[in-house]
Amino acid sequence: MALTTDALIRLTAAEMAAKLRTGEITSVELTQAHLDRIAAVDDTIHAFLHVAADEALETAASVDALRAAGGAEAESLHPLAGVPIAIKDLIVTKGQPTTAGSKMLKGWMSPYDATVVEKVRAARMPILGKTNLDEFAMGSSTEHSAYGPTRNPWDITRIPGGSGGGSAAAVAAFEAPLALGTDTGGSIRQPGAVTGTVGTKPTYGGVSRYGAIAMASSLDQIGPVARTVEDAALLHEVIAGYDKKDSTSLSETEYPEGKIPTFSSAASTKTAAGLRIGVIKQLQGEGYQSGVLARFHEALDQLRQAGAEIVEVDCPSFDYALGAYYLIMPSEASSNLARYDGVRYGTRVVPEEGPLTIERVMGATRAAGFGEEVKRRIILGTYALSAGYYDAYYGSAQKIRTLIQQDFDAAFEQADVLISPTSPTVAFPLWEKLDDPLAMYLNDIATIPANLAGIPGISVPGGLSEGLPVGIQFLAPAKEDARVYHAAGALEQLLNDTYDAPLWAQIPALEEVTR
Ligand code: GLN
Repeated sequence: MALTTDALIRLTAAEMAAKLRTGEITSVELTQAHLDRIAAVDDTIHAFLHVAADEALETAASVDALRAAGGAEAESLHPLAGVPIAIKDLIVTKGQPTTAGSKMLKGWMSPYDATVVEKVRAARMPILGKTNLDEFAMGSSTEHSAYGPTRNPWDITRIPGGSGGGSAAAVAAFEAPLALGTDTGGSIRQPGAVTGTVGTKPTYGGVSRYGAIAMASSLDQIGPVARTVEDAALLHEVIAGYDKKDSTSLSETEYPEGKIPTFSSAASTKTAAGLRIGVIKQLQGEGYQSGVLARFHEALDQLRQAGAEIVEVDCPSFDYALGAYYLIMPSEASSNLARYDGVRYGTRVVPEEGPLTIERVMGATRAAGFGEEVKRRIILGTYALSAGYYDAYYGSAQKIRTLIQQDFDAAFEQADVLISPTSPTVAFPLWEKLDDPLAMYLNDIATIPANLAGIPGISVPGGLSEGLPVGIQFLAPAKEDARVYHAAGALEQLLNDTYDAPLWAQIPALEEVTR
């Protein structure tokens, strides 16, 4: 019997791929099912800024035709060929608009594809469209998007996290089985936590940044968003690898065994036995909601009972991570965003009165094109880098960055992976923190250290608190991304056994969600 639209969109990406391979379903059917879902729920959720129905169906039809023809070409199709995907609108795509969630890039079309988009196209995964985000990826709630916020499918009065709330909400609401995000301080992991999805921030350099609109180049990474650990691992395998167009890209030979590990086999190990897990002393306690801590401690108990060794690790410099991040990130952003000058890209505003100078066009363009949060960070970064203040602010922040790296090095002598809650709270109501930048910044307290150290991290669902998802974060040493998949896969399995169903299956039907 043919699967209904509703059944199709609730499969995991791995299951979709398997059914495509056996011919039980076609990619056109599968892609259309997701487009139908988007049409049905995205007016409410607003995960998408652009839907590319025709392009997605064209790719899907090409996969179906290749499969139907059989032979070598069908054989050589990528395992995920035909499985649709959504892309965060910070990642440039040829033939589809890229806005970065900003008025500055309204209507801008990239003349080239990001490397990850090239890889997704080479794998013949239909691209459903571009997802919403905080403007230039600055934020933790998607409320800073110039195009209006995305809503959390678990409760549409609440935020879906940010900056990648669009990708996370699309995957949580079954509008897409997979999505790409970017994580500079937590923008893949924190939205994952509050939407009950899985998101990975890869090792810095593990995935090409070419074509990711730069926010803070020493911290930015592109990574996978999915509903299961295995699905995230499979997508990570599509996008990983050396790229000569990214000077910080890692070559295969730099990995421990001289090749990129198979993340999906690490994800399918599903055993916690023998794993040494370090609980980061600084990433719990004050500021963390009791419901979040309750789920966190249950996860630790489950892992311990399943044979993991749980130790506590001390990372004293983490107390300064948020402060260091909010100097380094704005400093790099202030320099990266200087390119939006009204001359080269997107919006140009010409002042109606007064002399027509480049400075005045730049000023008028930036005043109109950038939102408040982006302006705040550009000013902060410019100040931190200015002569006389550089050593006191930027210089000190860089020293803290080194201390944080040293804390991680010491912690990983005691443990294979580290664990913490991903986010100190569950999804909060829309507009609650929008006027309080510091309260907003505190959402990333647990995710930021990994970006400062360049190490991989994952957020995996850890149950519910007051009906809303709680995320658990695992971290591993650089280039050991396979370890976060191993640990997260083990915890996912333990929780699936406990709740008799994956967490994402418990999401209320959107029709039942209270407005
Ligand atoms: N929320 C963090 C910030 O506002 C992280 C953003 C990101 O990872 N892109 O900077």
